[in-house]
Amino acid sequence: MYYLSTRNKQLQFTPAQAIAQGLSREGGLFVPQQIPTLPEGALEKLKDLNYQQRAAYVMGLYLDGFSQEELLSYAEKAYSDDKFDAPEVAPVRKLDENTYCLELWHGPTCAFKDMALQMLPHLLSASLKKNEETRTACILVATSGDTGKGALEGFKDVDQTRIMVFYPKDGVSEIQELQMRTQEGRNVGVCSVVGNFDDAQTGVKRLFSDEQLRETLNERGYFFSSANSINWGRVLPQIVYYISAYVDLVKQGAVSMGDAVNICVPTGNFGNILAAYYAKLMGLPVGKLICASNSNNVLTQFLTTGVYDRNRPFYNTVSPSMDILISSNLERLLYAMSGEDAELVSDYMNQLNTVGRYEVNDELKEKISACFAAGYTDEAQTKDTIRAHWEKHGYLMDTHTAVGVHVREQYRAATGDSTVTIVASTASPFKFCDTVLESIGETDLPDGIALLDRLSEVTHVPTPAPLEKLKNKRPRFDLCVEKEQLSDVVLDFLN
Ligand SMILES: *Cc1c(COP(=O)(O)O)cnc(C)c1O
Repeated sequence: MYYLSTRNKQLQFTPAQAIAQGLSREGGLFVPQQIPTLPEGALEKLKDLNYQQRAAYVMGLYLDGFSQEELLSYAEKAYSDDKFDAPEVAPVRKLDENTYCLELWHGPTCAFKDMALQMLPHLLSASLKKNEETRTACILVATSGDTGKGALEGFKDVDQTRIMVFYPKDGVSEIQELQMRTQEGRNVGVCSVVGNFDDAQTGVKRLFSDEQLRETLNERGYFFSSANSINWGRVLPQIVYYISAYVDLVKQGAVSMGDAVNICVPTGNFGNILAAYYAKLMGLPVGKLICASNSNNVLTQFLTTGVYDRNRPFYNTVSPSMDILISSNLERLLYAMSGEDAELVSDYMNQLNTVGRYEVNDELKEKISACFAAGYTDEAQTKDTIRAHWEKHGYLMDTHTAVGVHVREQYRAATGDSTVTIVASTASPFKFCDTVLESIGETDLPDGIALLDRLSEVTHVPTPAPLEKLKNKRPRFDLCVEKEQLSDVVLDFLN
């Protein structure tokens, strides 16, 4: 199977080329020529496999040129028990009668990004070999907090790679910032950018399209690659856990094989929910996909009206990993839903670039509303949700998961649809200690790292080991620059 660009179907790429390159030259995103369907009996078979085996099986359907043995060895390394503190890797926990949290944060950085970023380095290294690439991949990351740390952990000390992470100075939690500034490894760099996530992302996108810089680095033996969720190697490992969660629900007796479930995802860049959409296209029995946003509700408007409009105020919220106004992966949804119309997609993306707005045609609107529901929560609702579930069910959730759980509750109340629903739980509550503590009624909060102990004392939930270890680490990085200066930083880093 080949991969094509969402903006140009003429050129074909092997999976290894698509993964190594990250983004197509004209700005489009790589997509499989055809979404594979789950073969007859596949779900029955997957039910009896462990997570690593499920991952190898599902990814194998998309990756011609990668053997099953190879993929299984990557999955065993990526999801090993010294990296994940849950034997199921991505366990499904019952929240109430028909709601289940799919906990995606048991990995080394305590957010769902680990599910893909522990796998991507294996896929990328293998791709470089298959492509007979001799240059070193320089991975540039713009992060709203969790991707940066996830990518640093995944790529640290991986041969033939260097990784440089840019995060917005005013857009990440204290714990997230500390996680990045204390990063170890000989091939890593970390730098903060004045402004918000979109500033950091715009700055990094500019680096990718800077021909002069590309040429200079090429002479030094480097090429750019991406670990952001625009890379197909990020999306693919995420498809696995929705399929895995479904067969686990069957195993637990929560649904019968073949019954549809809804999936609700707290969404930012649209990568995680897109993976759920692909799982549905593959034949997983999924009813509605519910897209949950915070006050940056550009996707709520889009999915309910067909108008994407980024000309709106930007809010820093208590769920910072979703503070995004340009959801890059939506492009892949438009491509799939428009019947793979690359011209139409290019046109919408041009409008987004030039005037910051586009409106999809009626046919697309209809398809979108048949498949998606959407909603958003404000800050008070997010905190109330954390408190209510802690008090009622003794279940402690982070701010992003709370956005998902609340939007799911809104949806159930508004439609009466009480189909069994998987809510993606995207981060450990310990990553967002201050808000979680406030939500459950704590006052006089300490600063920084002491927050971890307070949350653990109050809730009797142990602090995840990787966060506990932060206590003994000193920051290594303290560079902060304007978004126009990123190329200087990169040139220095790769000197
Ligand atoms: C990245 C992230 C999200 C948003 O995921 P997308 O794939 O960008 O939609 C939600 N919650 C947390 C905790 C995250 O780190």
